[in-house]
This record gives sequence, C-alpha cells and structure tokens, in this order.
Amino acid sequence: MGISEANHQLHVFFFPFMAYGHMIPTIDIARLFAARYVKVTIILTPLDASIFSKTIDRDRSSGYNIHIQIFQFPAIEAGLPEGIENVDALTSPEMIPNFFKAINMLQEPLEQLLQEHQPDFIVADMFLHLVTEAAAKFGIPRFIFHGTNFFSECVQKSLKCYKPYEGITSDSETFVVPGLPDKIEMTRLQLSDDFKVESEFNTKLMDQMRDAELKSYGFLVNSFYELEPAYAEHYKNVMGRRAWHIGPVSLRNRETMDKVQRGKKASIDEQYVLNWLDTKEPKSVLYICFGSGSRVGRAQLLEIAMGLEDSGFSFVWVVRTLKNEEEERFLPEGFEERMEGKGLIIRDWAPQVLILDHPAVGGFMTHCGWNSILECVTAGVPMITWPLFAEQFHNENLVTQVLKIGIRVGAEQWNSWIETKDAAVKKEKIGNVVTQLMGDREEAEEMRTRVKELSEMARRAVEEGGSSYADLTALIEELKTYRKPST
Ligand code: UDP
Repeated sequence: MGISEANHQLHVFFFPFMAYGHMIPTIDIARLFAARYVKVTIILTPLDASIFSKTIDRDRSSGYNIHIQIFQFPAIEAGLPEGIENVDALTSPEMIPNFFKAINMLQEPLEQLLQEHQPDFIVADMFLHLVTEAAAKFGIPRFIFHGTNFFSECVQKSLKCYKPYEGITSDSETFVVPGLPDKIEMTRLQLSDDFKVESEFNTKLMDQMRDAELKSYGFLVNSFYELEPAYAEHYKNVMGRRAWHIGPVSLRNRETMDKVQRGKKASIDEQYVLNWLDTKEPKSVLYICFGSGSRVGRAQLLEIAMGLEDSGFSFVWVVRTLKNEEEERFLPEGFEERMEGKGLIIRDWAPQVLILDHPAVGGFMTHCGWNSILECVTAGVPMITWPLFAEQFHNENLVTQVLKIGIRVGAEQWNSWIETKDAAVKKEKIGNVVTQLMGDREEAEEMRTRVKELSEMARRAVEEGGSSYADLTALIEELKTYRKPST
C-alpha cells in the first residue's frame, strides 16, 4: 500500500429511511463511524436535516468530519400532499405506495452525488432498494441497516422457509417456530400481513428487499453479541448473512444535550421532567411510550388511564392520539387533578433515553419497537410488552420468551397500520401487569436482576475492547483494504 492510500480517510454515505425509528439509530451509527475518524455524509430531507443538524454541528465542532447532504423530497411529484417528507406525516396506509414512489425518484440525485464524491461505501436502510442499483453502478459496497435485531430476522426467515402457520386450525392456536435455538411460540394472529394477505405492492417491496440483501456487502445490526449470542450465530452461520453487531448505538449519546436532541423536539422541557423524576423514589415510576409513529385511539387511551390509576404507581406517559380525534377528550373525568404529582403526561414527543436513564424509572410499557427495547435494556429497566405492528411481536417474544425481562400485556393481534382504534386491552389487565412489574414480587425482582446484568453487558460492549467496539473496528479495517471490483 502506498503512503497516499494508507492516509486515505474512508468516506461513508448514510441514507436513512424517513421514519424516526429508522432515522434515529442511523444517525447514531453515522456518528459512531465519525467518532472513529471516518468521513461521514448523511443524506436527509430538509425537514429531517433541521431536526438533526444541531447534533451533527456539535460533532463537527468537536473535530469530526461529519456532514449533511440535503435531498428535496418529491412529495407532489409522487402524488402526495405538499410538505410530506416523513412517514410520520402520512395520514393513511393508502399513501404508502406514493411515499415509496417519491423515494425511488431520488435515484438520479443519488447517482449524481455518488459520481461526484465517490464514497468508499454506503449504508442505507433496507427500504431504500434504489441505493443497491445506484451503488452497483459505481462499484461501491452497500450495507443494509434493517433497524431490528438478530432474533426477529431469524424468526422471520424461519416463518418464510417452513410456513409453520399453515395447517393450524385457529388463528389463536399457538405453533412453534421451527429451526431456532429456543422453542419460540406464536399465533397466526401475531403474523404480519405479508404472511396472510396478497398485495402487489407488498410482494414487489419484499422482492426488492430480498434482491438488495443478496447484492449487499452485509448488514449493520443495532444489537450486541451478549444479548442474543445464539441468534447472532444463527444469523451468520445458518442463514449465511454477513453482519456486524455494533450496538446499542443509542450509547453514542453520552451528554444530556445529545439525549435531548435525539429526534424531534420534545414537547416538554427536559429539566422539568428531570426535576419531576428527582422527586420520586428509585425504580418507582413506569414510563409508557408507543414509539415514534403509532397513534392510539381514545377508547384504548381511556383504558390505559384507568388501568394506571387503579395500579396506584407513578408514571410518565407519552400520548399520541389519532390524527383526526379531539386531543383533550381521552382522559376520564378529573383524571389530571387526581394524578397531580403522581403522573406526568407528555403530548407527542419525549426525550426517551433521558427519561429511561433516570434512576426513578423502574418499568417501561412499550410497543416493542426495537430501538425502545434496546434503549430499555441499556438503561437496565424491565418491560411490559404491548406489540402493535412491524416485527414487534417477534421483539416481544425475544423479551418474554428468551431474555425473560418483560411481562406481556396480552396484545394478540398484529396491526397493519400505525393507528389502533379499538380498545383491545382492558383496564383490569393493564392495572394487573403494572402491579406485577412494578411491585415487589419475586418474578419482577428476577427480571430486574437479569436486565441489570444485560445493561452492564451493553455498556461494556461499546467500550474499547467490548464486542460491539471490536466488530466496528473489524469492519473499518476490512473496508480500508477493500478494493472495488474492476469493471
Ligand atoms: N422516541 C423518543 N421520544 C418519543 C418517541 C420515540 O425519543 O416520544 C425515540 C425512541 O427513543 C426510539 C425511537 O424514537 O429511539 C422509536 O423507535 P422504535 O424502534 O422504538 O419504534 P418505532 O418508532 O420505529 O415504532
């Protein structure tokens, strides 16, 4: 290797999917690479750039070579209302195909950018299959970020391969997912639509994602080896995927300001929340949040409110209502007065990692988005699992059947859209699981002990010498010696 090659600073492009649950960890990963002295360029739409620019600017002023490249999002050209740049703004599932149409229109600007900058590699979300073709044109290795864990990918693959849900007599009958390191049980109700409903759009998207997988260099996984060793091995050795586990990536955010500005602007002053939590006993507060996108109907919110009140435990509850429902009418009469000092309701967006990391938080009622679960494990907090959509039922199974650090609320049915209108879980059940998790029963104590151990492992994994740190080093070293195939 000549001197100039040895001194060449690797340049990586990041192209996140425009949904906060994908974008937030992708930005964390980009910042992790920058912290290892790789030059980083992140492609964002104007709206998303405005949300993340403060954090990126701070990194740059700390001396890192990290930049944002803005791409206009062609909403109108794709038949969407003006101003839509993020899944968050979609108001119905019918808008999804047009959203993907707009994304695919970004292929040309992407190719121009690749031509101009010739990055050494590109990390893009699994939904951005346009990147595969563009990267291939320039011989640039393309990595996939799917935003989930090894376990759910292994379950998904087994379901596709063995179809164990066929021949089951009822939707609520349990079946075992074959060929996995543990006995994992699920029902047909919990399966996503792509196993049950024929849809041209979905089939095409799945085919494109599979094609992107086959052509990619490998996967970056936001997990750590010690959390799911058997599934990390299964993924690599049985499924034959090249993958690097580099998480928990949320630990890139050490300073309070990084935690506060991780995602949308919080709807509450962070100091107010911290002061409020400071008044509470250690591990006495339940945090409730259903992720970045989901919206819950009034009937279910009412059940949650009553269940929380009946349980008697303190809570911080992040509420996002259905877009077309009146915001103020979901609480029982006099609830806010009765809960004064006991419960804190945050509308829309909370500084989640900051809250989870506070010693007063002793439980998390979560919709089982992977980021939320991993952030919760990292904070050493056990969970109440309430999966709604995407791969969240698999994540619930990892938490409850494998890691045994959470209690199911009893959600049974996979949802095809981020809004849930019915009150599937009643207040009695909610009150009951909250008491089980937050109380001093032996089962809950054991969960607290296990999750605390995992939290320590998570923190060690990203320190120098830890498993995630080492995997990231190995990847960077490999890329330094990568040679483009001659065309
Ligand atoms: N998040 C947050 N505040 C909120 C809601 C969500 O900071 O009020 C963050 C959360 O910390 C996580 C991400 O948004 O990093 C949500 O990702 P997840 O995979 O849990 O769920 P999704 O939003 O993809 O359904």
